[in-house]
Amino acid sequence: MNRHHTDDRPPHGASGAPDAPGPDPRALGDDLVRLRHALHRDPELGLDLPRTRRKVLDALDGLPLEITTGTRLSSVTAVLRGGRPGPAVLLRADMDALPVQEESGLPYASEVPGVMHACGHDIHTAALVGAAHLLCARRDTLAGDVVFMFQPGEEGHGGARLMIEEGVLDAAGSRVVAAYGLHVFSTVLPLGVVATRPGPLLAASDTVTVTVNGRGGHGSSPHAAVDPVPAVCEMVTALQTMITRTVDVFDPAVLTVGSLHAGTTHNVIPSTARFEATVRTFSAATHDAVREGFVRTVRGVADAHGVEAGIDYQELYPPTVNDPAEAAFALRTARGLFGPQRAFEAPKPMAGSEDFSFVLAEVPGAFVGIGACPAGADPATAPMNHSPHAVYDDAVLPDAAALLAALAAGRLDREAAPGTTYPGPAPAPAPIPAPRDAAAPAGEGGR
Ligand SMILES: [Zn+2]
Repeated sequence: MNRHHTDDRPPHGASGAPDAPGPDPRALGDDLVRLRHALHRDPELGLDLPRTRRKVLDALDGLPLEITTGTRLSSVTAVLRGGRPGPAVLLRADMDALPVQEESGLPYASEVPGVMHACGHDIHTAALVGAAHLLCARRDTLAGDVVFMFQPGEEGHGGARLMIEEGVLDAAGSRVVAAYGLHVFSTVLPLGVVATRPGPLLAASDTVTVTVNGRGGHGSSPHAAVDPVPAVCEMVTALQTMITRTVDVFDPAVLTVGSLHAGTTHNVIPSTARFEATVRTFSAATHDAVREGFVRTVRGVADAHGVEAGIDYQELYPPTVNDPAEAAFALRTARGLFGPQRAFEAPKPMAGSEDFSFVLAEVPGAFVGIGACPAGADPATAPMNHSPHAVYDDAVLPDAAALLAALAAGRLDREAAPGTTYPGPAPAPAPIPAPRDAAAPAGEGGR
């Protein structure tokens, strides 16, 4: 159970965020919390998120944005035209939830059985809405355009790739010169702490299904059958050996067999066995070596046992690779906003994966992590992203919005006149329209 009041939250960013574009993002805090709770109560899966899209469109209502929606997915693309000439940059939030039954006990917990915002994408969505409000309030000073990419289907559906195919990178009329996104963590990072790194940040993710066909028979007479069970057992262990003998330890790979099925009872040799694996890699060289080694190993073991192996090797997401200059800029920006203690260069990548990788494969940019571990919880032991118990602190919302806005405004400033800093505060943004189906008034819920 996570109960805290915004009044109690630590004063991170309470420097008044002097370098944030526009007004103090804290003025938006209650609106963002209300929107985030409405999203959290009503999560949706996959590429079609009609209720989520409605909430986003309502929250952007009245802003000076050019808004289009996707055709193959329920995406929202919004373009803000800056008051000064310049290129376009892109800010992205993913909006989909996970097939998880929420057990957080939060007052604003999911009301959809079996579906939960267990990865914090509700925070990303609300934060990007906040960034849109902040940037619209200082539109006149923006040295170019900002594309806001609200993306469904991050969790295994490749929504980012579909949005690229539908033109999001060129939504402002020219290819964006940079792209930024962020991800909250319910664990690992302390609340409000930002981390990223140059180069690979997250892994490529492949999924492999292997179906091994032998010939079934009586358990007492294996010589009269072709048993697939010892074959798959050897494949699983041989694959681990293949990894250690194929992969440079300084360019690592993870291979996990997470599903293994064969047979029905103790004395029947099945005709078929099947297993599923996930493969995580951080470079094209290791990716290709592991893919080749996987196929070679499984086929070789199958030959040795006289069984047939069908291999369905799916390349899900490429690695998420930050442009070094953009990662450094993101850290500089976070330190400028929140202080030097609250942003650091991550010493190593993480083996999770993320489809913002498709965007970063096309344009330079950076993906950053921000800690949303509840105040008072231990980041080392708090339930992690995707857990039914995962809790993300609302207090991160204004900071996440401010960071996204500052990345866009700062990147455009950099383009216009290298070395310039943001101008002073702009007029306060208008309140964000309340979600129409939000049952709770502002301030209710987990605050
Ligand atoms: Zn996620």
